[in-house]
Amino acid sequence: MHVLISLIWLTLLTNIQSVPAWYKAQRDAILSTERRQSVGSTLKLTSDEEAVNKMIMAAKQGEIKSAIYDDSNYIPAVHFFQGRKRMEQSKVFKIIQQMPKGAALHLHYGFITSNAWLVKNVMYRPNCYMCVKEKVITLTGFYLTPPVDKDCTWIEISSERAKSTDIETFDQWLYNNLTLTVDNPEVVYPNINVIWRRFLQYFQTVGGLINHAPVLKDAFYESLKEFHEDGVQYLETRIGLMTPYELNGTTHDYTWTVKTFRDVVNEFKQDHQGFSGAKLIIGGRKRYNGSAILQEVKAAMSLVEQFPDVVLGYDLMDQEDVTHPLLYYVSELLYPEAHKSNLPYFFHAGETDWLHIHDNNLIDAILLNTTRIGHGFAIPKHPEVMRLIKERNIPIEVNPISNQVLKLVSDMRNHPAAILISQDFPVCISSDNPAPWEALPLSHDFYMAFMALAASDDDLRFLKQIALNSINFSRMTNKEKASALQLWETKWNVFIKRVLDSHNTFTEV
Ligand SMILES: [Zn+2]
Repeated sequence: MHVLISLIWLTLLTNIQSVPAWYKAQRDAILSTERRQSVGSTLKLTSDEEAVNKMIMAAKQGEIKSAIYDDSNYIPAVHFFQGRKRMEQSKVFKIIQQMPKGAALHLHYGFITSNAWLVKNVMYRPNCYMCVKEKVITLTGFYLTPPVDKDCTWIEISSERAKSTDIETFDQWLYNNLTLTVDNPEVVYPNINVIWRRFLQYFQTVGGLINHAPVLKDAFYESLKEFHEDGVQYLETRIGLMTPYELNGTTHDYTWTVKTFRDVVNEFKQDHQGFSGAKLIIGGRKRYNGSAILQEVKAAMSLVEQFPDVVLGYDLMDQEDVTHPLLYYVSELLYPEAHKSNLPYFFHAGETDWLHIHDNNLIDAILLNTTRIGHGFAIPKHPEVMRLIKERNIPIEVNPISNQVLKLVSDMRNHPAAILISQDFPVCISSDNPAPWEALPLSHDFYMAFMALAASDDDLRFLKQIALNSINFSRMTNKEKASALQLWETKWNVFIKRVLDSHNTFTEV
């Protein structure tokens, strides 16, 4: 079958070569003008990089060719839940997995620590309870004595595990309660509201675990570890104004949370020389009323002032179609400016399929001087927004798998960021909430970006550029950025050499 497809492919190319020279020259001129505009096209590769480029492009073209007459074979064309295992067998993916990816700039704390760690570590701790209703875990928490709840029954997880005849089956049941992954996502999650309900239920289920002060500290460390292992050296994560609790029921304020995060990041950096750090963006929800948001804006201003090396600014997030638009909060969001203060914003905007409804958040994000735009899925439908983004060089945080799982796009080749990438918009790739859908911190999203958002002939230069973009678009200080870039370059050279060596070893054998 593969031989037949290759022959057809070859025949098509042969026919193309028979066009008149003058026609071909004009066609080539248009094509090369276009190709010069895409992300990474201006980078020059070294000879070693060229050799790796040949390998990864041969693998990329092979995957495209094998699916050209049946795109159900094309991993980005199918749902991530159904394509993930196949993706992990792909040679392109295996190379991307080893690649130093720079920074992850669009994340949500609470959705970035793997379910495997929550089940095998957190749910093994003493005093860890779950509240169960009809075999579904609806809440969790650490208690000396669990509360009485009329909607569900509180059970200590370790004693329930001890009673079970098969521990692995019990742990798998816990795991299944967390993961959103199913074999038939089109049936289980028929529309955006169903998947968002399930997605928010995930946070409700794990919230009691990660809000427990000792777990929060460990979960910060574990998140950094998982990202670092996936080739990420720096991250910026959104986080709510959390007030973690101790076993005796006392709570800490969010200043404690920020200090704890700062201490954990410093500890992790001590333990891992190849790590550049992590910072926070305070995030509120677009379901709150104006006065609640004003309180958050004031709290964020105070945290940015107290911890300028850790807290970067403020964002508002939620399911965009069914919650308040940014315009609803405009006077609260203008509060810092009206008081001659500065609170950098990092707004989610245009995370929708609708046109000229809530996607107009893009306009408000720009007017409110957003530092970056989260998602920006609707940007190509707004020509003036596109012009302003280009003019002001506002980075866009693209999260391909999140957009597919949360039902904005099904076939990743139709992702609108392809338009932005083809015109060298300031784009970086992130993963939003990789834990609920079992994605790796960045590798799966990088694969999708490379195979479906970038053009079929976009090559290693694209991958290199999006890694560089992620560091350049971060809010590290100039000094931190310079040292992060230097560190990344060292990692990149090691990566190139390792891929070449493994290829040479394989060829010699
Ligand atoms: Zn997000």
